[in-house]
Amino acid sequence: MVREMIDSPSPCKVTVVYHQDFGAHGYPALKGRVAPAFEELGSRGLLDLEGVRVMEATPADDDLAAEVHSESHLRGVKASGYYDIALLSAGSVVMGASEAGEGRALSSFCFVGAAGHHASHDGFWGFCFLNDVAMAVTHLRERSDLRRFAIIDIDPHFGDGTRDILGPDAEVLHVNFHSGHPMIKGEGLHNLDIALPHNADDRRFLEGVGEALEAARAFEHDLLFVIFGHDSHRDDYGAFELGDGVYASFARKVKEVFPERVCYVLSGGADARVARRAIGDVIEVLAR
Ligand SMILES: [Zn+2]
Repeated sequence: MVREMIDSPSPCKVTVVYHQDFGAHGYPALKGRVAPAFEELGSRGLLDLEGVRVMEATPADDDLAAEVHSESHLRGVKASGYYDIALLSAGSVVMGASEAGEGRALSSFCFVGAAGHHASHDGFWGFCFLNDVAMAVTHLRERSDLRRFAIIDIDPHFGDGTRDILGPDAEVLHVNFHSGHPMIKGEGLHNLDIALPHNADDRRFLEGVGEALEAARAFEHDLLFVIFGHDSHRDDYGAFELGDGVYASFARKVKEVFPERVCYVLSGGADARVARRAIGDVIEVLAR
């Protein structure tokens, strides 16, 4: 049920990149939320809005994965059995980043079947296999004029893979929410770690978001990635005790400061009810 509209005269408000394989063949802990969240968009009537475009994800190139990851890393991912779904997930992010970065959409939201922020140059864990955002950054630098990228990672787990690959990059700002005790310390030129208590509530989280947006505004990026994990919800598996309404508040805050050139990348989260509400709310904010 994916419709594709390629020739659009003006940018759409939000491009949603999706593939049914994310729900069918995604990583077991993550895949159950995918189809319900996409169906929610239909139930809310969002897919019928003029400003919303749905595109079907296509796999990223093997060569692009090889530019970001070591040979031994790729051998390990292939042996895991999740290489194909990881490549399709990275392809979703490359597509969504291109749409928002090159101005065909104001924003994009990329569904995935496997996450990316724990995939470093030479190692992976935590439901992550290929670093989708690092692959999109590499792709866009090769194929477009986009050079500077800001990343705001609100998944409550420390984005160690992204920090490993993009932390030392002078033209990347990496803002990383986490629940304390990071696995690696923030070093490098433009890295900001926002540590919140394990039981951080909506108010505390949104204060951190203000800090993150201030850093991004000062950085003057060409494209902003939001690594969007709803495992921060009190009913999901990660740290933080966020409530139902916080993701809409978050998306509104981001949109106020950055009304365009924003690419949301789905990250952690397993609970289907939370996913419906959180993802539905974010795309609703972007669509209107
Ligand atoms: Zn997470």
